Amino acid sequence: MSRIVVALGGNALQKSSKDVSAKAQLKNCKNTAKAIVNLIENNNEVIVVHGNGPQVGQIVSTYEGMNAVDKSNLVMPFPECGAMSQGYIGYHLQQSIRQELKKRDINKQVASIVTQVVVDKNDPAFNNPTKPVGSFFNEDEAKKIIDEKGYIMKEDSGRGWRRVVPSPKPKSVVEEDIVRTLINDGHIVITAGGGGVPVIEKENGDIEGVSAVIDKDFAAEKIAEIMDADKLLILTAVEKVAINYNQPNREDLSFMTIKEAEKYIKEGHFAPGSMLPKVKAAVKFADSLNGRKTIITALDKVEEALMGKTGTVISK
Ligand code: ADP
Ligand code: MG
Repeated sequence: MSRIVVALGGNALQKSSKDVSAKAQLKNCKNTAKAIVNLIENNNEVIVVHGNGPQVGQIVSTYEGMNAVDKSNLVMPFPECGAMSQGYIGYHLQQSIRQELKKRDINKQVASIVTQVVVDKNDPAFNNPTKPVGSFFNEDEAKKIIDEKGYIMKEDSGRGWRRVVPSPKPKSVVEEDIVRTLINDGHIVITAGGGGVPVIEKENGDIEGVSAVIDKDFAAEKIAEIMDADKLLILTAVEKVAINYNQPNREDLSFMTIKEAEKYIKEGHFAPGSMLPKVKAAVKFADSLNGRKTIITALDKVEEALMGKTGTVISK
């Protein structure tokens, strides 16, 4: 039996940015659930981590829209929006996975844990917010928001102004014992959705939510280490990681050693904000203990990838 942490990318939840309805997401989750239950049927223990970019954006924008109409509609703080997105997506995945288990007569339970992930309040990322969230505003509106709310707003490649938040690294997982108990008891666990709700530790030991986004690939890597997983399976929109991506001499890779991956990272083969965090997470997990490996592939290629027929494997 292998313990696998599956990191689900955006396309496992919402296939198209044209239909971001709950209905479309639920339909897509049913397809995703098949891949997850295939893993279960093949005798693996499965922990799921998922992204939340478009969903948390939708939640934030809804509050912003209501606030624009009537100021007494307060905008929900960002950590709370992240927690809502975990519930929304977790609900869809739970329902879809349950149905798929039932269809195949597999007697297992699935639960989502609202997960808080501790970040370092001195993480350098807090000095350089990079992750855009929520709606676009014009310059005047943006300046007003900066004055009123103290948000950091940046111009986003000619499309308008958007709030940006920092993307610190995950340090530890508040609910780790619960996740471990559930997985050890044979359940399927959905955790650290959207990278987890980022929290900082205060001097008195309390924790407090912060407006930031933890990259879900880094959060999945952290969960995989803590839960002593054998494999980190990063499912995204491409079947393999490539070098010279988007160039005529593009080459899809079936395997990378840690050293090779580090060389390719230095040479700039992986786009920041998309493939780069995946390869970095892959390297970190493969380097954390002998025998651990990461596979990056597409959702519909999981079985083949686990048989070594496709995907990109990163190991020592
Ligand atoms: P996810 O929602 O799964 O995190 P992202 O869009 O963040 O998806 O990252 C996956 C995307 O990274 C791929 O769809 C591809 O367009 C892009 N990408 C950037 N560089 C590479 C590369 N070197 N090899 C393969 N894909 C790459
Ligand atoms: Mg991504």
